Amino acid sequence: MKKHIDHPVFGVIAKAARELNVEVYLIGGFVRDLLLKRPSKDVDVVAIGSGIKLASKVAEMLGDIKVSVYKNFGTAMLNYEGLEVEFVGARKESYRRDSRKPIVEEGSVEDDQNRRDFTINALAISLNEGDYGELIDPFNGMKDLEEKRIRTPLDPDITFSDDPLRMMRAIRFATQLNFRIYKPTFNAIARNKERIEIISKERITDELNKIMMARKPSRGFDLLEKSGLLQLIFPEVQALKGAEVKEGVGHKDNFYHTIKVVDRVAMVSDNLWLRWAALLHDIAKPVTKRFDPDIGWTFHAHEYVGAKMIPGIFRRLRLPMNEKMKYVQKLVQLHLRPIALIEEHVTDSAIRRLLFEAGDDIDDLMTLCEADITSKNIKKVKRFLKNFEEVRNKLQEIEEKDRIRNWQPPISGDIIMETFGIGPSREVGIIKNTIKEAILDGDIHNNYNEAHKLMLEKGAELGLKPVK
Ligand code: ATP
Ligand code: MG
Repeated sequence: MKKHIDHPVFGVIAKAARELNVEVYLIGGFVRDLLLKRPSKDVDVVAIGSGIKLASKVAEMLGDIKVSVYKNFGTAMLNYEGLEVEFVGARKESYRRDSRKPIVEEGSVEDDQNRRDFTINALAISLNEGDYGELIDPFNGMKDLEEKRIRTPLDPDITFSDDPLRMMRAIRFATQLNFRIYKPTFNAIARNKERIEIISKERITDELNKIMMARKPSRGFDLLEKSGLLQLIFPEVQALKGAEVKEGVGHKDNFYHTIKVVDRVAMVSDNLWLRWAALLHDIAKPVTKRFDPDIGWTFHAHEYVGAKMIPGIFRRLRLPMNEKMKYVQKLVQLHLRPIALIEEHVTDSAIRRLLFEAGDDIDDLMTLCEADITSKNIKKVKRFLKNFEEVRNKLQEIEEKDRIRNWQPPISGDIIMETFGIGPSREVGIIKNTIKEAILDGDIHNNYNEAHKLMLEKGAELGLKPVK
């Protein structure tokens, strides 16, 4: 192990511990990531004794650098040469049934390893004289790392019941690291799933976001579904699952389709919110589903109903109720439009309208829409993708010509009110809209003079006279 821990700070920590006469170990995620060769900047250091005292000593030896002390948690943290090092005293924990907050006592390094969630997170490296650099692996975590397996060190029913957040963490690690969950561990998640109710929404959503940001988020959603957790934490996504058959006509399973779309977006974009839009794009399919004997299954207006569902979902999951939510809502609402363009005739006015409504999010919308094409029919997909290119080119052409993205009509409400000597009123809205529609339809050009002329015409039609 010694070669892995060549950062100068580790030598200083060892020396400080010797002077204070306490034992010290590296532990947890940092050790795991070191062995997996994943870059990691958070270091957890556990002392058999006071973590705060050790941190202060280390800071002093490093030349009086700043230490942040969290007395209530008995932890201290310092930053040194790109590493964020957290110090804590070894703990022994016991749990009560109604809370994930344990009763904490001082303990040995074994006690501290026992309270860790997974074998791969319970690995420790000694920084002590005598066995400096040696791996301490009481639960065969090394073997689980090699076999790419998530497993609890102790009885999984106890581990998950004590702190049900660990169920989300198991699935998150399996997704991030591309590991499997050991069967008895997974079965215990399924058995203890109801315990998730004692975990705060924020914590659950943190884990969901980490799953979303993994290379292949579908793995996480598949595990959430199979364990039964999805139904409890995200029933709207669970409802996408299944394919009904009526009169011999089926429809695709929208759950598997959806998570595939998330993966496809993830392949080309790191934008968390675009990934959320992918997860939610068909969210209203279950509630809008109808069977019509003549045309089969329909999901009429699911894009509008879906957009309406977004604020409620964001609020419940404690996702931000700001422009991120609006962005997801917009993409959900517009997600069928580029495809509709392909299927009909690609007119300039349809393109202008799409550009107007999508604004700067047009490229993300096109990414989502392209990811949404997941048919098993290769010929169909090929044809779609070819036509898609055509829409892309056309979008670019029209945008260069008309500059519709983030466009403001050349005649404002103020100009209309001034011209006719009227206050804010229905008429102002009608005239504004007439001008906007005329430009988007290509009936007039996007300039002041033509818009001004149309304003006067429309005003006259409404019985208004210019004041000057
Ligand atoms: P990441 O930083 O990528 O989220 P991590 O494993 O470092 O992964 P942290 O939340 O930073 O996770 O926690 C550090 C270590 O603390 C873990 O490796 C694990 O040993 C322990 N730990 C964290 N949360 C729990 C928990 N809920 N139950 C038991 N042990 C935990
Ligand atoms: Mg960490």
